[in-house]
Amino acid sequence: MTLLIENVHIAPVVGPEIESGYIRIEGDRIAGLGAGPAPGVPDAERVDGTGCLATPGLVNTHHHLYQWASQGLAQDATLFEWLVALYKVWAAMDAEVVKGAAAAGLGWLALSGCTTTSDHHYIFPKGRGDLFAAGIEAAREVGVRFHPARGSMDRGESHGGLPPDAVVEELDDILAATAEAVDVYHDPSSSSMLRVVVAPCSPFSSSAELMTESAALARAKGVRLHTHLAETLDEDEHCLAQFGLRPVDYMEKLGWLGPDVWFAHAVHLSDADIGKLAATGTGSAHCPSSNGRLGAGIARVSEMLRRGANVGLGVDGAASSELTPLAGEMRQALLFQRARYGPAALTARQALELATLGGARNLGRAGDLGSLEAGKLADIALWRIDGPFTSAVADPVCALVFGPALPLARVLVGGRTLVEDGELKTVSQDAVGRAGAEAGRRLLRLAEQRGVTAAKEVHRG
Ligand SMILES: [Zn+2]
Repeated sequence: MTLLIENVHIAPVVGPEIESGYIRIEGDRIAGLGAGPAPGVPDAERVDGTGCLATPGLVNTHHHLYQWASQGLAQDATLFEWLVALYKVWAAMDAEVVKGAAAAGLGWLALSGCTTTSDHHYIFPKGRGDLFAAGIEAAREVGVRFHPARGSMDRGESHGGLPPDAVVEELDDILAATAEAVDVYHDPSSSSMLRVVVAPCSPFSSSAELMTESAALARAKGVRLHTHLAETLDEDEHCLAQFGLRPVDYMEKLGWLGPDVWFAHAVHLSDADIGKLAATGTGSAHCPSSNGRLGAGIARVSEMLRRGANVGLGVDGAASSELTPLAGEMRQALLFQRARYGPAALTARQALELATLGGARNLGRAGDLGSLEAGKLADIALWRIDGPFTSAVADPVCALVFGPALPLARVLVGGRTLVEDGELKTVSQDAVGRAGAEAGRRLLRLAEQRGVTAAKEVHRG
C-alpha cells in the first residue's frame, strides 16, 4: 500500500526544507521524499498537501494523563502545595476515571499534532482496578504511539516523604507490578506502538532503594528510566536536607544518569549539573507551561542545547497545565528562552526539533521517529498554512512556532490517519471529550465519598 502526500512544504527537521514536494509512504514507513511532483506510482492513494506544512509528528515526553480529570484545582499553589492538595483527590481514582481521562488527553494531544506520547502514572490506590491497563486501552483506541511509564511512590509522610501514606505502595509490590507491566505490554520492535518505561515519581516521594532497584530492573529488561527532577527550589531544599545532595548529584549517586534516562523538568540546574547531563547522555523533558503555571522557574534549555544535553518537550499533566496543546509548547519554550536569554536563544527550527527529534531521543526512538527521512516511521503532521489569516506569515515554520497552534489537515501514525481536517478519525471526538469531562466529575464524586470536598478545599491551594 503506497500513500503519496503531494505539493506540500516539508520541514523534515533533518535535511533541507523543501518548498513544494512529496512524501512517499509504503506501509508504516517513509519510503522517500523530494522536491517537485511525486514519481508515478500506480494505484497509490494520494493526499493533496497544497497549502500545508509537513513536519514529523510531535513527540510528548512528559504527561500524567489521569490528571485530565483534575483540572482547574489548586490554581494558585506552588508545586508542593498543589501536590499535597491533589494527592487526596487522586487517591480516589479508579480505572474508569483513568480510561476516560486518558482517552480525552490522548485525543487532545493528537489534535495538536502529537503522534507519540509518554504517560507517567504513579498513583495506584488499592482495589481500584487496573489503572495501568486503562491508559493502554485508551491509547490503543485513539491510535497514538504510547510509552506508558509504570510510576511509583514508596516514601510517604511517615518516612519523610511528601505524599500521604495512603497513596504510596510497598517496594516489593511496586517492583513486581513494574516487572509485570514490562513483561505483558512492552514491545521492543522498531515499529512498536507501545514501550513501557520504569518511573519512580520523584526524589521526594520515592526511596533511594526504590530508585536503585528500579534502575536495576529497567536495565535488566532493556527499558528506559524516567522521573521528575529539579523542578522547584523546594525540591533542592528537600534533597539537601534529606540526602545532603542536590537533585542531580543525588541521581548520580543512585546510578540514575545515563543515555537510558530522561528527567521531567530539570529547571534548577547548576553549570556542573548541565555538564553531567550532557556527558552522560541523560535527557530532559522541558514543560514550560506547567513550569509557568506553578511558578517553578525557567529551565536553562538554550544553555543545555549549546552544551550538548538532549531536551524534548512535555505538556505535563493537565492538572498543572490545563488544556495545553503540545504544538503550543514549542511557542512557550521559544518565548521563555527568549525572555530569559534574548532573541537568539532559541530559533523556530530549534523549537520544532525539541518537539520532534529531541523527544524521540528522550524515548530512545531517534532511529525511527522525530524526522522525515526515508526509512523512518510515517508519523507526520500536516498543518494548514493557507488560511486567510495564517497565510500572512512569510515562513511556514515561523507560523507554526511563533503563532498559536495551526489547524491540522492530517495527522498520520505509521501511515494511518488519526486526524483529518481537524477531527479525530479513530474515535468519536465528542465521545472522548465527554468521557474526559465525566471522568473529572466521577473523580470529584469519589473523592467526596471519602470526605474530600475537592472543589471547595483545593481551589486556592
Ligand atoms: Zn509531571
